[in-house]
Amino acid sequence: MWSTMQDFPLTIASIMRHGTGVYGDTSVATWTGDGTRRRTYAEVGERAARLANALRGLGVDGDQRVATFMWNNTEHLEAYLAVPSMGAVLHTLNIRLFPDQLAYIADHAEDHVVIVDGSLVPLLAPVLPRMKTVKHVVVVGEADTAPLADAGKDLHAYEDLLAAADPAFDWPEIDERSAAAMCYTSGTTGNPKGVVYSHRSAYLHSMAVCTANAIGLSADDRVLPVVPMFHANAWGLPYAALMAGSALIMPDRFLQAEPLVRIIETERPTVAGAVPTIWNDVLRHARENGGDLGSLRLVPCGGSAVPEALMRGYDEVGVRIVQAWGMTETSPVATVAHPPVTAEGDEAWRYRLTQGRILAGLEVRIVGDGDVVLPNDGTSVGEVEIRGPWVTGAYYRDEDPGRFHDGWLRTGDVGTFSKDGYLVLTDRAKDVIKSGGEWISSVELENRLMAHPDVVEAAVVGVPDDRWQERPLASVVLREGAAVTAQELREFLAGSVPRWQLPERWTFIAEVPKTSVGKFDKKVLRRRYAEGELD
Ligand code: ADP
Repeated sequence: MWSTMQDFPLTIASIMRHGTGVYGDTSVATWTGDGTRRRTYAEVGERAARLANALRGLGVDGDQRVATFMWNNTEHLEAYLAVPSMGAVLHTLNIRLFPDQLAYIADHAEDHVVIVDGSLVPLLAPVLPRMKTVKHVVVVGEADTAPLADAGKDLHAYEDLLAAADPAFDWPEIDERSAAAMCYTSGTTGNPKGVVYSHRSAYLHSMAVCTANAIGLSADDRVLPVVPMFHANAWGLPYAALMAGSALIMPDRFLQAEPLVRIIETERPTVAGAVPTIWNDVLRHARENGGDLGSLRLVPCGGSAVPEALMRGYDEVGVRIVQAWGMTETSPVATVAHPPVTAEGDEAWRYRLTQGRILAGLEVRIVGDGDVVLPNDGTSVGEVEIRGPWVTGAYYRDEDPGRFHDGWLRTGDVGTFSKDGYLVLTDRAKDVIKSGGEWISSVELENRLMAHPDVVEAAVVGVPDDRWQERPLASVVLREGAAVTAQELREFLAGSVPRWQLPERWTFIAEVPKTSVGKFDKKVLRRRYAEGELD
């Protein structure tokens, strides 16, 4: 028997209608360096309609791809709403990728238009001639467009296009399963791979983000997405904010600790999402120079393991960090580490240090050698597999059956999963250190090292060893003026780490190399070690 319920599609257009209508007075603020420029959701809705008309005028039709090469700002939000709602596909380009990767991605996705922030024109210019399918470039804000002139594309000014466009758009009916947006994973191995989100997956993911077991957004919140809108849709925060009626505060290109602290003090966000390295810098800056972070009620943090020392540091200033786990392939939010209500003190901390509890709708399992499914007992360690309505089932135009297993996504993460749904990651499969047949968790060593008061950052990688096959190499960034030695750090670790896991190779560096999305780039460390640079 079929239900009697209406078969009403879950689409981004409906998120847009709700947010820009019901919460039309709510504001989106974009930081300008010394203040903000502000628009209401209602204005953003009208400008999205103008943008959709303008894009039609540029020949965007059907499911053509419209790329963005932009910071987090109001115009990027307009593209987030207009492009999928008109039936086209939003392709957020990661501005931090190497030119070769960008050219590959734009070509692979067959982007027709690129919308670029004026401040990013110099970054786009050298790659643009290689983006063969791109016909139009739309420049947002002031910019010297001379570097784009020879690329053989039609150039347009965003505001001119919008001013000339009709303020009403006849938004089409869209099948909720059709493509809404796409994002390429940053490609730590091989070519970047494209994940294509559907309207339905974006809608369901936004609803999940709004639940109290995740971030619990409401119309009382003011959300600061520091995590870029070109990286896994800024963890879904923009769409979730429109759904919940939360105000948005966009940092634009001001992503260093000093402006972030100023934005927080001035705009008083209640929720702000970013990777651990950013929160580390922000806290250090606020401690050294003063800065009130107290408006924040919740700081979702993930992308890599969140060090305990970082969480405790924020606790001390009255700000709650909650760890979350996910990946581009999972939209991205999949688990969020709220402890059970009954847990207190050390027990609560034990839960807070997990990667989090699985959100309703998703399922996780742990798979061991020979693809044997292991029990969810919180101790069996294996590869984490996941499935659910906002998890990708394939990559765009890229046969990679190795990443999928009977309808589950193989995440490449290694860990345990407990009966009550908490995921603990011990490492990424490729970062686990295999020493004498036993596994050493690089993340565990890093976390313990970063708990030392003189250590700013620490990255641990496995390096070849004649006797043990691999041994850990610790690359450490010390606090300015600190003089702690490798021997002292080893002794510090010995308090909490089994002796056989203690690194005997140490190197002190000025900065840990980072990937395009701000994670420790262990590939680079391994290469530097192989080239003799880290001895
Ligand atoms: P990539 O880094 O491969 O380009 P993503 O940005 O999608 O892709 O990152 C997903 C990966 O980030 C996860 O598979 C996991 O390894 C890591 N990650 C995300 N959140 C956490 C977390 N809270 N703890 C540990 N690792 C995390």
